[in-house]
Amino acid sequence: MHKPHPDLDLDKDPRYVADVTGKEGLESGIAVSFNPATGEPIAGVKLDTADSYEQTVAEAQEAFKRWRTVPAPVRGEVVRNIAVEMRRLLEPLGELESIEVGKIRAEGIGEVQETIDIADYAVGLSRMLGGKTVPSERPQHRMMEQWLPLGLVGCITAFNFPNAVWGWNAMIAAVCGDVTVWKPSLLAPLTAIATNNIADRVATEMGHPGIFRLVIGTDDEIGERMIADKRFPLISATGSCNMGRHVGQVVAGRLGRCLLELGGNNAVIVDKDADLDLAAKSTVFGSVGTAGQRCTTSRRLIAHKDVVDELVGSMARAYKTIKIGDPLEDGTLVGPVIGQRTVDAFESAVEQAKAQGGEVLVGGKAHKPDGLGGWFVEPTIIRAPANNELPIAMDETFAPILYVFTFDDLDEALRMQNSVDQGLSSAIFASDVRTTERFLNVDGSGSDCGLAYVNLGTSGAEIGGAFGGEKDTGGGREAGSDSWKAYMRRQTCTINFGSELRLAQGIRFE
Ligand code: NAD
Repeated sequence: MHKPHPDLDLDKDPRYVADVTGKEGLESGIAVSFNPATGEPIAGVKLDTADSYEQTVAEAQEAFKRWRTVPAPVRGEVVRNIAVEMRRLLEPLGELESIEVGKIRAEGIGEVQETIDIADYAVGLSRMLGGKTVPSERPQHRMMEQWLPLGLVGCITAFNFPNAVWGWNAMIAAVCGDVTVWKPSLLAPLTAIATNNIADRVATEMGHPGIFRLVIGTDDEIGERMIADKRFPLISATGSCNMGRHVGQVVAGRLGRCLLELGGNNAVIVDKDADLDLAAKSTVFGSVGTAGQRCTTSRRLIAHKDVVDELVGSMARAYKTIKIGDPLEDGTLVGPVIGQRTVDAFESAVEQAKAQGGEVLVGGKAHKPDGLGGWFVEPTIIRAPANNELPIAMDETFAPILYVFTFDDLDEALRMQNSVDQGLSSAIFASDVRTTERFLNVDGSGSDCGLAYVNLGTSGAEIGGAFGGEKDTGGGREAGSDSWKAYMRRQTCTINFGSELRLAQGIRFE
């Protein structure tokens, strides 16, 4: 049985259930979290009910009334101390992620670092949440915008970023004066409890209890309740396109605001003058990192016909040296996928690709590393037939499969890249500035994605930029730049400091 790291205080949380068999169904009121590397249960988590949800949201409303009165820079001090505490607990928290979702240790720790980075960013932001003063058309009038706290933010997260996606939302929301109620994935509830408890403990010790809340439950009982709940002016939801399509409609139906961060089907274009070594290394990381379970994973490689063989040859050699296994062991580069459903989806995609004329160049099978009973697959490269027709590549299979296409002319490559439903991340490797500028064309005819990289792979965003994607990726933007505006209410204020009534547009009403 897993022993939680003592500094994380997981076993002191009233939701934590140490002794589970793994056979408990959700109807027992407990969700069991499994270690995907071993297939064994880690611990259980007591699920919220309609009543406990109601109590949490009612308390969050009361906390919001207090929190919004705290000056933004003082809110920033709370976030600064959360970042200090996250730094102290960086390793145990990162390792818990490795145990619960199978990320290799460096990536688990890297994810917590991302929360620390966004917290640092939010601290600075807490002194910069200003609005504009706008020239009024009327004498002795002043017009200005101010940004006000929004209220409760319902934060729904996917299993694959069980810490940082909350961080992107909750750290920014906190300095904006909002209270975050987090509904994590049932595949990673332990990381959520440990993470939220750190933030809640720090804020409570500083005299601000109840700003970070957690509800853990099934989509039917808790998820649906939250998205339909008018007390949440903003629902920020990360996950699959299917989930987002539904959540977006329900929230729109009550005229709420949605921030959607959904699936991706990201391509890397490699032109004939590219630095092939750089392109190969970046694309290997982009396609096999996190076992292909990032929204920004490179899923399609579109390579010029003159370089495709050399590029794919060197990537295939690299793939064959990748150590698949225990994510906590030194040297492992690919850990498990999250569960059997992903192994099934992987096998089905490989079979469909073969039936559609694809050729498996590397991998293609489920895998069982020695001594581990969990869920693993081989990182896989599949080459599309010469006519580039491979319909399965239009889907996001959340596993490490890279489909290879070939092009002759850049417009054709861009057309292929933009031909999928999603629009999250995109990359080009090329040396000619005319090629890279065509890819980034300011007229909008280049990449249609929210993220566009030149001589960098599709995954591994920095928090300073706005993160998110277009089309079926949902249009949301989180993290840096002006993403904070989604968490605040804009008020346009006009002040008449004269003594005459002056109407806009010169209207006379006498
Ligand atoms: P998922 O859609 O199965 O679940 C995501 C979250 O939505 C979970 O918390 C789930 O419980 C919740 N949910 C599902 N139905 C709901 C409902 N009816 N009401 C309320 N909540 C509901 O996704 P997943 O398998 O956990 O994650 C993988 C997917 O997430 C991939 O498609 C990936 O690309 C995407 N993702 C996107 C980003 C991004 O920033 N764009 C980041 C990470 C993951």
